[in-house]
Amino acid sequence: MKNLPSAITLCEVGLRDGLQNEKTILSAEQKVELLRGLIAAGFKVIEVGSFMHPKAVPQMASTDEVYKAIGDVPGVELRALIPNLRGVRRAVECGCKKVKLNVSASRQHNLKNLNMTPEESVAGFAGCVQEAQANGIAISGSISMPFASPWEGRIPEADVDAIIEAYLKVGITEISLSDASGMAVPTHVYDLCAHVWEKYPQASWWLHFHNTRGLAMANILAAMEAGMTRFDSSFGGLGGCPFVPGAAGNISTEDVLNMCDESGIQTGVDIVKVMELSRTLREALDHDLDSYILRAGRAKDLIV
Ligand code: ZN
Repeated sequence: MKNLPSAITLCEVGLRDGLQNEKTILSAEQKVELLRGLIAAGFKVIEVGSFMHPKAVPQMASTDEVYKAIGDVPGVELRALIPNLRGVRRAVECGCKKVKLNVSASRQHNLKNLNMTPEESVAGFAGCVQEAQANGIAISGSISMPFASPWEGRIPEADVDAIIEAYLKVGITEISLSDASGMAVPTHVYDLCAHVWEKYPQASWWLHFHNTRGLAMANILAAMEAGMTRFDSSFGGLGGCPFVPGAAGNISTEDVLNMCDESGIQTGVDIVKVMELSRTLREALDHDLDSYILRAGRAKDLIV
């Protein structure tokens, strides 16, 4: 294959995107142990949790405690998802140094729930950026459902551009395109990634794919072909939503690691260590996980 990168950066998001959908609530100690394991496996970027209201997302209520327990880890970025200014303040309190905001690309969804367009939501993040910068906290932004949403289907490219430009205007240049609804397809992923890569050279990009329709790996490869090198994944393929029939988690970390290892793409992450962590997780949550490699093992382990 042409145009594949020689190295990529993976952000492990299982502790946030994965655990937030689980019935079993892990203790802060259990999360810290998994976090130490992920750091030992070689991750340089990890999404540790979120600062949502603890009543809305009880699984993430211990995020502050986890940050206090782990402290600063040199060379490793430990980021948290935040909803608003209160999230930045909680980050300051517990020593979190990197936060991520989120907006939905669905105009209908945003207008119905928040009575504003996605660009207006992003313009409202200016206060978060100021507060973060004043406290030495790095800040990034995510666009949820930039490919397609259950309300309008395919999102027009101009709508995505308007949200990106709103982020750039408030001073956020690190942007994640997040296929939360699992509706993206490789051809569209390639086109949108190539478009934003070309049009906004000042921005740096993350891609976040859910495997709801089995296309997450193909979408990652399509994004790589368009120049992208930063991807979220979740150990054990953890995630999904118990209330949405058929909802799936993020693409499994070990599946991405296996594909990269066998294709000569460097990740800096040890797949064997991640598989051990996913097995620990499977025991703690007491259900099967959505990971091909965890089920079948690596092909190279079959050869005697
Ligand atoms: Zn997600």
